[in-house]
Amino acid sequence: AKTAGRNAVRFFDPAMQAILVVRMLMESNLRAALANNQFQLHYQVQVNADGKLIGAEALLRWKHSDRGFISPADFIPVAEETGLILPIGKWVLETACVQLKKWEADPDTADLTLAVNVSAKQFQQHDFVDTLCDMVSRHQINPTRLKLELTESTILDNVDATTEKMHLLRKIGIAFSMDDFGTGYSSLAYLQRLPLNQLKIDQSFVRDLSEDENNATIVRAIISLGVNLGLNVIAEGVETKAQRAFLIAHNCYAFQGYLFSRPLPQEGFLAMIKEPPSN
Ligand code: C2E
Ligand code: CA
Ligand code: CA
Ligand code: CA
Repeated sequence: AKTAGRNAVRFFDPAMQAILVVRMLMESNLRAALANNQFQLHYQVQVNADGKLIGAEALLRWKHSDRGFISPADFIPVAEETGLILPIGKWVLETACVQLKKWEADPDTADLTLAVNVSAKQFQQHDFVDTLCDMVSRHQINPTRLKLELTESTILDNVDATTEKMHLLRKIGIAFSMDDFGTGYSSLAYLQRLPLNQLKIDQSFVRDLSEDENNATIVRAIISLGVNLGLNVIAEGVETKAQRAFLIAHNCYAFQGYLFSRPLPQEGFLAMIKEPPSN
């Protein structure tokens, strides 16, 4: 019992203490980043089976003054824990609306849809629908160009409230994609009920498609499931022509990945799509 008692004094574990300090530092840096406009959106193209550009996904970047670009994978978890994801997520949506408005004015980009990642905590805010509707009308964007990416856990965590919000937003034309599909647990019963437009196959299944027979089977199954439910299916993390060929052969609708382009800042994105295609 004595040993257990001593072990329970976790607070003085130096490794634990270091983690806490790093988190606190990250939190205060994130607050400063928001105040000092250190966030940017980068855009990664989405193409269909004919190679036609159909849209882009907005991916958040933190341009740190001495550490360069920091991936959202490294700071979103802390942002979620501290609630900072709420102002950050609002900034992301607002910036996406401004971008869509600009794209509308240019014939090369007018038809593109923009997919935006929304975290669970953000979507679960009681005023999420009102806030987004207000943004859409303030920026006067066409809401059918906007797509929200939600993960399975975001949706299933609170399925009734989430479904209701999705229905309200679908009514004004906003589309929904289920991100990282295949990594979580969703039952067929839920999938049929959810007002989704798209399933996005997680990149972990796409990654070793040609070497791993299990992944090939999963990818084929996800595509048929999506097609049977009347959803379009997009694959992310497409890096090779072999992966694209496999996906096309199995009727995947759209693709995203380094094979086409890395995520780019808005100027680079625009320059890239105005370039004549090379393959
Ligand atoms: P995600 O939504 O699954 O985004 C896909 C990630 O894969 C992105 O990482 C993208 O840069 C990367 N990627 C794209 N193509 C390829 C490829 O061909 N190969 C490989 N290996 N990777 C590829 P990123 O930009 O670091 O974002 C990581 C995650 O952070 C995202 O995963 C998403 O969950 C989250 N995130 C990004 N932006 C936002 C945001 O604005 N709000 C929220 N809440 N989360 C965001
Ligand atoms: Ca995503
Ligand atoms: Ca994803
Ligand atoms: Ca992911």
